Amino acid sequence: MSTPASWVVVGLDNGGTSNNATVLDATGRFLVDRLVETPSRVQDGPELAVEALAEALDQVLALTGTARTLVRAVGLDTPGPASAEGVISSKGSTNFSQPAWHGFDIRGALQERLGLPVVYANDANAAALYAHYAHFGADAAQRSSVSAIVGTGLGGGVVEAGRVVTGAAGMAGELGHVHIPMQGLLAEGQPVPACNCGFVGDAESVASLTGIEKNLLPYWLTRFPGHELASVEPVGKAARMLRGYGENGDRLALAVFEQQAIALGRLFTIAANFTDPHAYFLGGGVVEAAPHFREWFLATVREHTTLREEQARATTLALVPDLDMAGARGAAVAALERFQGPPAAVGEA
Ligand SMILES: [Zn+2]
Repeated sequence: MSTPASWVVVGLDNGGTSNNATVLDATGRFLVDRLVETPSRVQDGPELAVEALAEALDQVLALTGTARTLVRAVGLDTPGPASAEGVISSKGSTNFSQPAWHGFDIRGALQERLGLPVVYANDANAAALYAHYAHFGADAAQRSSVSAIVGTGLGGGVVEAGRVVTGAAGMAGELGHVHIPMQGLLAEGQPVPACNCGFVGDAESVASLTGIEKNLLPYWLTRFPGHELASVEPVGKAARMLRGYGENGDRLALAVFEQQAIALGRLFTIAANFTDPHAYFLGGGVVEAAPHFREWFLATVREHTTLREEQARATTLALVPDLDMAGARGAAVAALERFQGPPAAVGEA
């Protein structure tokens, strides 16, 4: 912890159980080097959840010894779907299932509660923005990147010239729902995977925990009769156990993760021909795995990312750093960008 050199912005990452908070000063220094978590109370409805966000802000300011008068703006990120301005989907979502959340303007409500400007980003976009700034440092405002974050779903973010591309309806960067070629990815007799969004054969239908649970694991269990995961109920539990099996070299698990890596490589190939970014970032559970497994996974993604020679020379494939803090940090960067333009560089004090 250190004291700010100037005015600050606060980043608040709103999750299903916890809020994580950080403080970024105007010179691009994070005043917090770890997770600062408090209960998010999203299951208790909007009123208590907004109050919990205000408490998270007070707590991180107290922890860093930052006066509230120094706070110029707040960056807020939540899981989607929500509009670019932070209005939760009218159908609700996994985290915001209570009817009171449907169509709720969480950004506006927090802004009113705090009396401070609040800038909104969805959680994958926030993580993408942080990965971008952490990787490119002083060059961030001149660089572009594409991030894919494998979790329950497949989150994404597209950054151009240091800014998140949000799109006309706030739905840009939904990389999980980009269709990818399935030929040569699917095995003999494997059904085309279906996604919760209604598409078949999109990136998330393969490269997500939900994709493992709904599509990949049920198929691969038929190919490995008698595998011990077949007796694990429910299948969602078996899906979450799969990474451990992969780290231990289990053939069924490696078959599943190889399909995920191919899907991600093909997704990055589409990005290469679409915005030709300087960097491709990969985040999520699989890249937090044991080093030998992570390296194998990353190498497999790279092998299936088809770049032209010129692109291969000009680009990198890297991991999203500090993933547990990336949401709060990216939300803070978004707030700082909005109020003073891109920071020259960000880093820890
Ligand atoms: Zn989809």
